[in-house]
Amino acid sequence: MCLSVLQIPTIIGTAHIIWEEISGLDENYTPIRTYQVCQVMEPNQNNWLRTNWIEKGDAQRIFVELKFTLRDCNSLPGVVGSCKETFNLYYQETDLEVGRNIRESQYVKIDTIAADESFTQGDLGERKMKLNTEVRIIGPLSRRGFYLAFQDVGACIALVSVKVYYKKCWSIIENLATFPDTVTGSEFSSLVEVEGTCVSDAEEEADNSPKMHCSAEGEWLVPIGKCICKAGFHQKGDACEPCGRGFYKSSSQDLQCSRCPAHSYNDREGSWRCDCEDGYYRALSDPPSVACTRPPSAPQNMLYNINHTTVSLEWTPPADTGGRNDVTYRIICRRCTWEPEECFPCGSNVGYSPQQSGLTDTYVTITDLLAHANYTFEVEAVNGVSDLSRTQRLFAAVSIATSQAVSIFPVFFLSAPSQVSEVIKERVQQHSVQLSWQEPEQPNGVITEYEIKYYEKDQKDRIYSTVKSKSTSATVNNLKPSTAYIFQIRAFTAAGYGTFGPRVEVTTKEESTGSGDEQNPVIIIAVVAVAGTIILVFMVFVKFPGTKTYIDPETYEDPNRAVHQFAKELDASCIKIERVIGAGEFGEVCSGRLKLPGKRDVSVAIKTLKVGYTEKQRRDFLCEASIMGQFDHPNVVHLEGVVTRGKPVMIVIEYMENGSLDAFLRKHDGQFTVIQLVGMLRGIAAGMRYLSDMGYVHRDLAARNILVNSNLVCKVSDFGLSRVIDDDPEAVYTTTGGKIPVRWTAMEAIQYRKFTSASDVWSYGIVMWEVMSYGERPYWDMSNQDVIKAIEEGYRLPAPMDCPPGLHQLMLDCWQKDRADRPKFDQIVGILDKMIRNPNTLKTPMGTCTRPISPLLDQNTPDFTSFRMVSEWLEAIKMERYIDNFTAAGYSSLESVARMTIEDVMSLGISLVGHQKKIMSSIQTMRAQMLHLHGTGVQV
Ligand code: AMP
Repeated sequence: MCLSVLQIPTIIGTAHIIWEEISGLDENYTPIRTYQVCQVMEPNQNNWLRTNWIEKGDAQRIFVELKFTLRDCNSLPGVVGSCKETFNLYYQETDLEVGRNIRESQYVKIDTIAADESFTQGDLGERKMKLNTEVRIIGPLSRRGFYLAFQDVGACIALVSVKVYYKKCWSIIENLATFPDTVTGSEFSSLVEVEGTCVSDAEEEADNSPKMHCSAEGEWLVPIGKCICKAGFHQKGDACEPCGRGFYKSSSQDLQCSRCPAHSYNDREGSWRCDCEDGYYRALSDPPSVACTRPPSAPQNMLYNINHTTVSLEWTPPADTGGRNDVTYRIICRRCTWEPEECFPCGSNVGYSPQQSGLTDTYVTITDLLAHANYTFEVEAVNGVSDLSRTQRLFAAVSIATSQAVSIFPVFFLSAPSQVSEVIKERVQQHSVQLSWQEPEQPNGVITEYEIKYYEKDQKDRIYSTVKSKSTSATVNNLKPSTAYIFQIRAFTAAGYGTFGPRVEVTTKEESTGSGDEQNPVIIIAVVAVAGTIILVFMVFVKFPGTKTYIDPETYEDPNRAVHQFAKELDASCIKIERVIGAGEFGEVCSGRLKLPGKRDVSVAIKTLKVGYTEKQRRDFLCEASIMGQFDHPNVVHLEGVVTRGKPVMIVIEYMENGSLDAFLRKHDGQFTVIQLVGMLRGIAAGMRYLSDMGYVHRDLAARNILVNSNLVCKVSDFGLSRVIDDDPEAVYTTTGGKIPVRWTAMEAIQYRKFTSASDVWSYGIVMWEVMSYGERPYWDMSNQDVIKAIEEGYRLPAPMDCPPGLHQLMLDCWQKDRADRPKFDQIVGILDKMIRNPNTLKTPMGTCTRPISPLLDQNTPDFTSFRMVSEWLEAIKMERYIDNFTAAGYSSLESVARMTIEDVMSLGISLVGHQKKIMSSIQTMRAQMLHLHGTGVQV
């Protein structure tokens, strides 16, 4: 309880100056001043004493403590009945000091005060007084101040002291909240509710603000709610102190500061969390109490397995999980182009099982990859902090690229063929249906077979049967009459089956009774005979519908008409030229993009006609477009259109990322499987079959005139008339006039300019040789004259290294002297398909298919015995990139090289099989040459 003394009243006078100010002694004989009155002898006393004006301040309830003595009337000698033993206490509220201007009647009586202890003896002046203490309460007060008044009505009183006070609750700190000095309420029973204020660095507990109640007695009662130290601070006594360095308190709810968790620190006081050390992070969901963690190290022990266009990857978890247990894996798939060597994300067509990211298991299967493309896969281990760290991610990417990424470059994949969608019902009978279809738009390889699946439409359990066909038509027999069947077709290549095309419904004919055509053999023969005749006539005199004939643009009087008949005029604004990629005879060849309205933009090659051209040059330039525009085949370069109405004049062609085949093969010497090489040859043959079917003779078929796209699809290009050959740096003038690419050209074409599809077949044989020898120059550095001579004498190019004998035989067939003996392109396609279907026929036992030793060949095979240095020999066989490998392994002489085995070659770190074979083959030749020279063999 607290008392607040308002003001010690001085008794400044009375209305009736009967009260006297007298000195005396209190109980303890301490001198005191008192006001006294003792008019007991006379009746009707009315003696007033009043205080000065007392300002009440905040108080509403005032306590008045009176100390006084009072004389017992009985003890007074001679006193009559007028003697009193009480006096009255009054008060009067005013806002101002009003002096004496209050009438007695205006005072409000507080109480009549009687003495608890009156005294009886002694003389008033010298006796020891017995002091009474009485307290009275006034209130509630409403004015600024008040007067107190004492009325004597005939007693003998000595007023020793008057203490006027009020009560308040003193400021305290309770539950970390400060409660200010609070004056008690006006009523005895009132509790004053007081809101606490949190001490510094503390905050109110949620929904629990601090309150206390100040009682009328000036006591704090009923504390409610509390404050708590803010994050970063903890409670010490009635205050909040900051957490020390190396400590933190993350929330006001926590009681204590804690030491920083592992891999975190702070060097400030009052921290609510600790910062992570460099290279360590906290995931958003990580509370500040957990250790800082880092991205995991890379997955380990990567294994992969390739199955056609599906790749399976397996790995073991990273050595370091970064201190977390939420490690998952994500796969980054990139497809890389050859030229320029750039890698792009694989996009959404690739499938991942079970998924691409968020993998919890350590394996994944990647499906639907493209055929003939190279991919790089990276498996990244990821945890909750991987995405927070840029530097760490870069680091992870680098480390993955070196040790964990499975770069299967240069492994090429085959992807399955696309759907067979255009199915035609050729003939529907009671028991059979004949169907034909188009080759799928993207065969992605050589289609060796089609599978026709069929079932009865209304059959409940959907049991289906299949029929296979090697061509694009098939007859399905043994069907029920009047029955609806569903047919679906899919293509098969070395990459496996494609997906089935759309369902085709066919209802067989009704069962005929009696003389149905299927019942009567006589009629059948007649019908077949007639049909056969019709078909024969049809074949002889009518071009098979669907096979267009090539029209020579030269036959047009106005060459512009030819261009616009066969080529689409493009708006130049749809074309964006990006960079120059080559030089053509008429101007630059650029790459760029074509965006036709409503279509996706596509990469294109743009051939431009240089400024200052003559009319003839323009005609010749556009002639290629007039020819190309007539073709539509997956193995023939596709013309997008021309720009003839603006400048520069342009021919826009589909973009072939890997450029011309000869340069491409030379760049990737030894890097393909035989099947892949045969796949390329098959594509070229299919393109040529199409061109020859249209009656177009190419005249300049050579690997340099084949373009390769990013999927390793080869397409025939470079169309023109005589100018194409003029343009060819390989073309030379012959005695028959005109320029001819001698090494690629059939004898009859060189001799008397007999260019036919059969002479294209000869050239095709040379292309086969170029492909199988990875872009070697036909007849090496023999002169054109020598080539012509050798050919006339019956010499033919030997099989390139590791060339399957069957393929070399096909080349030799293409180089038959009599052109009628050469295979047709259709047959070539068939033979290659057969080889692809039976890859065993393409196996070459090591060393069985090296170049035959012929006198001619001997002239062109370097004499290895003439070399003195290993480096000279390696340069001669174009394997100089391995000079360091040989030197490091200590092979300093050709003699030591001649003793090497295939294992020795492999142990040098030469991993490409093609290169191993090339080197071994050369070593074998070297041995043979040494044997010939010295008459002694080399011991191996
Ligand atoms: P050409 O005038 O047809 O001999 O073309 C010159 C060079 O341009 C070729 O050797 C190719 O490297 C390049 N080129 C031509 N056409 C294309 C194309 N469609 N895609 C990519 N490169 C091409």
